[in-house]
Amino acid sequence: HVFETLSDRLTTVFSSLRSKGKLSDADIDATAREIRIALLEADVALPVVRDFITQIKERARGAEVSQALNPAQQVVKIVNDELINILGGETRRVRYAKSPPTVIMLAGLQGSGKTTLAGKLSRWFKSEGHAPLLVAADLQRPNAVQQLQVLGERAATPVYAPEPGNGVGDPIKVARDSIEHARHAQHDVVIIDTAGRLGIDTEMMQQAADIRDAVGPDEILFVVDAMIGQDAVTTAQAFVDGVGFDGVVLTKLDGDARGGAALSVRHITGRPIMFASTGEKLEDFDVFHPDRMAGRILDMGDILTLIEQAEKAFDADQAEKMSTKFASGEDFSLEDFLEQMQMIRKLGPIKNLLGMMPGMGQMRGQLDEIDDRDLDRVGGIINSMTPDERRNPKMINGSRRARIARGSGVSVTEVNNLVTRFFDAQKMMRQMAGGMGIPGMPGTRR
Ligand code: GDP
Repeated sequence: HVFETLSDRLTTVFSSLRSKGKLSDADIDATAREIRIALLEADVALPVVRDFITQIKERARGAEVSQALNPAQQVVKIVNDELINILGGETRRVRYAKSPPTVIMLAGLQGSGKTTLAGKLSRWFKSEGHAPLLVAADLQRPNAVQQLQVLGERAATPVYAPEPGNGVGDPIKVARDSIEHARHAQHDVVIIDTAGRLGIDTEMMQQAADIRDAVGPDEILFVVDAMIGQDAVTTAQAFVDGVGFDGVVLTKLDGDARGGAALSVRHITGRPIMFASTGEKLEDFDVFHPDRMAGRILDMGDILTLIEQAEKAFDADQAEKMSTKFASGEDFSLEDFLEQMQMIRKLGPIKNLLGMMPGMGQMRGQLDEIDDRDLDRVGGIINSMTPDERRNPKMINGSRRARIARGSGVSVTEVNNLVTRFFDAQKMMRQMAGGMGIPGMPGTRR
């Protein structure tokens, strides 16, 4: 997809952090440098890159970093937050007019995908329960009117177009009349396609500005081809100055471009990205969500959701207590075992947890066999032990096992299995004391 190179590079940056216990200033600088190169290669505009890197460094050095996350996860989280920021933060919804029709005007260069977008938008507004009208005010490009009529037919949306001999050549009149027509015909949304040129020129800007003044749009959408790279920034700036706009629509995000335009345009123009197009078909289109786009760029599956859940469930005091305990050479008890298990259970079903890890998607079948009830049974068994038994599992002899099995409603074999598994875990913990942390516990560090 459009951000493939950027995704790949960032993934490499993150994985080189995975083995680190703590981030030094030098690590942060090196990471920031790598991210900078990745952004520049993706054709992100220089001022955007600069701000982005400053933020990343500041936040990575700051004390806000969460205890629940290891350094790699922390950097992923910071980069993710900043990407969302750069892309505009909150999802920007269409502002509907208080008294209909809501007028949406499209502006942009020829070939940016304006006419196609008009069709997509009309389909989308219909799906939102509106009754849109398409308006053919691009009288410059040969066939633009006909193209819109074809799209309108496909989207089952009426098209207002100049009748031959009536307003031909006067896009401003067509636009103005279309509003009147919409009122009569009960259309509550009007989408006006305007002319574009291959390059920016004053005549085109003036025409767009005249249409704007004639219809008073509720939203002017600037349509920009994500594949034009750095030119997108220049073009966007020209449209800010020439016509002004309220929101941006990125098109051709399905192309194998570097995607820098997408990452720059919001920051440069201060206008939110509202929609994104990802193909030639009417349905290749959606509302633009900065958070989802950032997730797509980071290509991390739902790892961020996982990180958030870990942060929520993480009990810093408890983890501190445990690591002090292991550092002092004290043994891992069945109580610790239970406590850890409950911490993991707080994260939700194990299956979902594993399913959120990148690359685990193909393993769905196996994941289905994991049964959370197994974990709950283990909890039941441990709860049937006396505090002494939990602290000192060696004392759990045959008759105690039989009593525990009765108490928790399981077979003696299950109790035996648990005790054996526990001793294995204890042995492992001893080997790891002074090492990295507890297996399976997100972000537990010393
Ligand atoms: P206009 O001159 O701005 O009205 O642009 P058009 O709507 O005619 O689009 C120009 C070309 O880009 C057409 O061939 C469209 O099919 C194509 N196009 C538009 N949007 C997308 C998109 O999101 N992805 C791809 N791959 N092609 C698109």
